[in-house]
Amino acid sequence: MLHNKNSVRGALEDDVFAATDLSVAMPKYKFPDEERPPRHAFQVVHDELMLDGNSRQNLATFCQTWVEPEVSDLMTLSVDKNMIDKDEYPQTAELEARCVHMLADLWNSPEAADTMGTSTTGSSEAAMLGGLALLWKWRERRRAEGKPTDRPNLVTGPVQICWHKFTRYWDVEHREIPMEGDRLIMDPEEVLKRVDENTIGVIPTLGVTFTCQYEPVAEVAAALDKLQEDTGLDVPMHVDGASGGFIAPFCEPERVWDFRLPRVKSINASGHKFGLAPLGVGWVVWRDAEDLPEDLVFHVNYLGGDMAVFALNFSRPGGQIVAQYYNFLRLGREGYRKVHEAGYHTAQYLADEIAQMGPFELIYDGRGGIPGLTWKLKEGVDHGFTLFDLADRLRTRGWQVPAYTLPPDREDLAIQRILVRHDFSRDMASLLLEDYKRELKILDKHGLKESLTAEEGTSFHH
Ligand SMILES: *Cc1c(COP(=O)(O)O)cnc(C)c1O
Repeated sequence: MLHNKNSVRGALEDDVFAATDLSVAMPKYKFPDEERPPRHAFQVVHDELMLDGNSRQNLATFCQTWVEPEVSDLMTLSVDKNMIDKDEYPQTAELEARCVHMLADLWNSPEAADTMGTSTTGSSEAAMLGGLALLWKWRERRRAEGKPTDRPNLVTGPVQICWHKFTRYWDVEHREIPMEGDRLIMDPEEVLKRVDENTIGVIPTLGVTFTCQYEPVAEVAAALDKLQEDTGLDVPMHVDGASGGFIAPFCEPERVWDFRLPRVKSINASGHKFGLAPLGVGWVVWRDAEDLPEDLVFHVNYLGGDMAVFALNFSRPGGQIVAQYYNFLRLGREGYRKVHEAGYHTAQYLADEIAQMGPFELIYDGRGGIPGLTWKLKEGVDHGFTLFDLADRLRTRGWQVPAYTLPPDREDLAIQRILVRHDFSRDMASLLLEDYKRELKILDKHGLKESLTAEEGTSFHH
């Protein structure tokens, strides 16, 4: 029996790369006209992804780049779960609520079982909500006193971009404490210089983006207590614990930075950073239910039931929250401590090695902040290369070790940073060091006709 070529075609499994579909380049910017088999489309998309960097070698990002296989399974199981639909997925909603109370407990809320909080897409959304609550509370206080509410301000140290967004989007004056000399974070004196009756809050960061250092939350709180005693001015605090909120409670439980300080009204943290959840989850928790103005909470009934929501997004994937809950059960305080301590040890090992290489001076050595390190070139010496050159050389081996200049008033200072995440093992660190030394030798031996400038070399990802 003869077969018409076309009738057999469907039954044959062509080699994917020999298929007619793949004999031409795919459309890039015009909406495709034709349908193609999933296998072909998959191969093409899969191969595009090869051109992305290798996330595990990206030592710039704070975000999770490795998960246990169980987390992948839970993510697949949750692919249909819309976390906003608390009526259809009440158990996912229950897991979210448990995470909020577990975090309130971890952060020492006096009423951990009753307080309020929510998951978010990350710390940026969480910061936005924390900032809004401060703004609303300040307005309430001012109105009750019959005072104007048109000139709110927010006092921060050198912050992550989310706080620049908050102040710009909500028209709040941002009083950002500039870096000065060797002081690269906020201190109580600088805070006191900037607070007044229009200050909606002070935001210390636990794990400053640029240097990895912790800002002195307890000292700032004490200074504001004293200010209140002296003048009656009562200025609340929100802690940006994007990284540190998931580190300090495990590794330094004696460090007082959280709801043990009554002045700390709310805290945000990124589940997808040191919370070890997959990308797409953050948290904000209020010390007490009454620190969250009821006015900001919406009640919706069209999904069935009465649902309280306080978030910028509506529909959002639920898998990250499910995975976060898994992590809490799986690791507990003990497991998180072990994971992060391993990170600190690797950071300190790297810091010691880099300090010994000669041209570098450490700025942060992995002690008293988050697991990571930052360093600069020794000043007053002509090295013949910049940190941007070194970062560029390391890219040839796939490593992303960002070099960047600091924000005001230390734009003159270029530094390099490594963040030690869960999956950056001691062995990988030793491989990186070998490459670092080799690239340094190449730069030393061959010199450069011209060094990369900050503009050309910046590969900094927040
Ligand atoms: C990462 C980070 C943010 C933003 O968090 P996302 O989870 O990426 O939205 C805010 N503040 C600090 C201190 C951070 O490190």
